[in-house]
Amino acid sequence: MTVQPMVKAEAVHKSFGLAHILKGIELEVAPREVFCLVGPSGSGKSTFLRCINHLEQINAGRLWVDGELVGYRQKGDKLYELKDSEVAAKRRDIGMVFQRFNLFPHMTAIENVMEAPMQVKGESKATARARAERLLDRVGLADKAANYPSQLSGGQQQRVAIARALAMEPKLMLFDEPTSALDPELVGDVLDVMRGLAEDGMTMIVVTHEMGFAREVGDALVFMDDGIVVEAGNPRDVLSNPQHERTKAFLSKVL
Ligand code: ADP
Ligand code: MG
Repeated sequence: MTVQPMVKAEAVHKSFGLAHILKGIELEVAPREVFCLVGPSGSGKSTFLRCINHLEQINAGRLWVDGELVGYRQKGDKLYELKDSEVAAKRRDIGMVFQRFNLFPHMTAIENVMEAPMQVKGESKATARARAERLLDRVGLADKAANYPSQLSGGQQQRVAIARALAMEPKLMLFDEPTSALDPELVGDVLDVMRGLAEDGMTMIVVTHEMGFAREVGDALVFMDDGIVVEAGNPRDVLSNPQHERTKAFLSKVL
């Protein structure tokens, strides 16, 4: 039996006005896989993540998350566009972590982690707090629960942001350059948290320039350039033996 992919993209196109950004993306992310997406700035990596997470609509092709077509509901052989409330429900199952942590500045670390389950799922404060304590412990910040974001380092804020995304118990986590805005000495702690998530079997798509992480933790690596998948494979193979000139040129700059 073949396993249903967590994400599947078939000839996915996306334009902004006349700018053709995604030009036929084809890929599959298996459940429990750490899927690394690398490529030059402007190649469409963030746009692709945003399409997966219903923040952008694709113009052509098909995109599935966990077997369901993104943006549509199927009834018989007819497709219906999802209503806003249905989109919101789907987005709850996907956690996203950005380069900028975007924590609520007026809430403590633990309040940030408790917020969505209480507001969106109507969870009780006690339940939300118990989970948030567990999650802060998991990202190594049990002792910072009462700190406000301004009292945390960038790396600590990013770990709170990861805990906040996990609080909704997503089936898929999207990371968009989660360590790019951090001072170099803070990167390791964030990558360690991501490594732990990977070990626990979370399905993750990680846009990153951290090739060490991709090599050690990644199950698959896709090199994207100018809106297409140029090369894909096992991260160790792609990184040590890239087949395409564009991949070689990119890797020579980041490795
Ligand atoms: P990457 O994440 O690989 O650096 P992006 O997906 O952010 O690339 O951007 C790819 C291209 O799409 C860029 O040229 C960017 O300017 C353009 N783009 C992204 N979002 C929008 C938007 N909302 N409107 C117009 N152009 C956009
Ligand atoms: Mg980007």
